[in-house]
Amino acid sequence: MITAKRLQQLAPYPFAELNRKKQELKAKGKNLIDLSIGDPDLGTPEPIVTCMQEAVTKTQNHRYPPYAGTTKLREAIARWYLRRFGVKLDPHSEILILIGSKEGIANIHYAFVDPGDIVLVPTPAYPVYSNATKFAGGLPYLMPLHKTNQFIPDLTIIPDNIAQKAKMMHLNYPNNPTAAVAPQTFFDEVVQYAKRHTLLVCHDAPYTEIYYDGHKPHSFLQSPGAKEVGVEFHSLSKTFSMTGWRLGFAVGNADIIKGLAQIKMHIDSGQFMAVQEAGIFALDNEETLTPEIRNTYQERRDVFVEEMKKFGFKITPPKATFYLWTEVPPGQTSATYATHLLEETHVVVTPGTAFGEAGEGFIRIALTAPKEKLIEAAERIQKIQ
Ligand SMILES: *Cc1c(COP(=O)(O)O)cnc(C)c1O
Repeated sequence: MITAKRLQQLAPYPFAELNRKKQELKAKGKNLIDLSIGDPDLGTPEPIVTCMQEAVTKTQNHRYPPYAGTTKLREAIARWYLRRFGVKLDPHSEILILIGSKEGIANIHYAFVDPGDIVLVPTPAYPVYSNATKFAGGLPYLMPLHKTNQFIPDLTIIPDNIAQKAKMMHLNYPNNPTAAVAPQTFFDEVVQYAKRHTLLVCHDAPYTEIYYDGHKPHSFLQSPGAKEVGVEFHSLSKTFSMTGWRLGFAVGNADIIKGLAQIKMHIDSGQFMAVQEAGIFALDNEETLTPEIRNTYQERRDVFVEEMKKFGFKITPPKATFYLWTEVPPGQTSATYATHLLEETHVVVTPGTAFGEAGEGFIRIALTAPKEKLIEAAERIQKIQ
């Protein structure tokens, strides 16, 4: 079967071999500790589940949902944005409900990217930004994230001819995989840059509520003028441990929201209204529901970093996200070290290069396993040093 060119241009998955080894060890009944998964293991908070149980029985929820999502959910998002970020949003023109933020991040290219258009994409990054760019016929231009620059792209090194031609820019803070948090001054700079080069900015922000030590990350929309140039993608996936429920949203510039809504209207029919009802409950009660989730990750982070420190590993504790982005020992590559850890300790981590070549020299460790497992993983790693 000959696939379309858009599938042929996808890079082959570089870690098939690593994955095969993992499956093989699993099949042999080895006690793997999997720290490679960016998916909360905590389960959705019970009050949200209870709300869903009731919502699912209502026959009016069984019909096609409105394309842009229910007005009530869009109003709940506007309330939450105002409380959390001090950002005012019009529920009718500046908010769009998504079936998980991933679909919106992918679909937005069909609304704004023509074949041959340049899209500025950070690297290492969530692979959707560049792959969806390619699906729409666009050309990703990679903006490297370096440790020496706190994993923030240096906009001044983007060549002028690229910046002039570029249509769109993707950003993601707090960042997956590097765990970096962007200062508001960077978002301010992005707004100016986007205005100068008539760029549309897509800020992917699913980790704003997974932060530590009380330091709340900013919204891109808090920067003056941000709403003139961009949108922000949010998700209930990480905030409320709801990855399987598929509920996200885009907020910001009304014209961009309208374009994305038009594309979606011809592709899907909106998220199940019972899920949207549970989403209203979650957002209206965010302040009481999320502290426990944060505390759990913070305890895991602290225990793991402390345990590794005992063994002479210097891991910088992240300020946000549930990832540790850490350098591999000298003489190793991301892939050789991830393979070494898998074979010798049965601890599964993600090679940095899974997020692009710029991830070379790093591995990503996800705190999506219980504290005891993290301590055991640290002990196993220590034994092979
Ligand atoms: C988890 C994640 C998302 C959210 O995906 P959903 O489709 O909303 O579940 C988006 N971007 C990044 C970088 C992520 O890690």
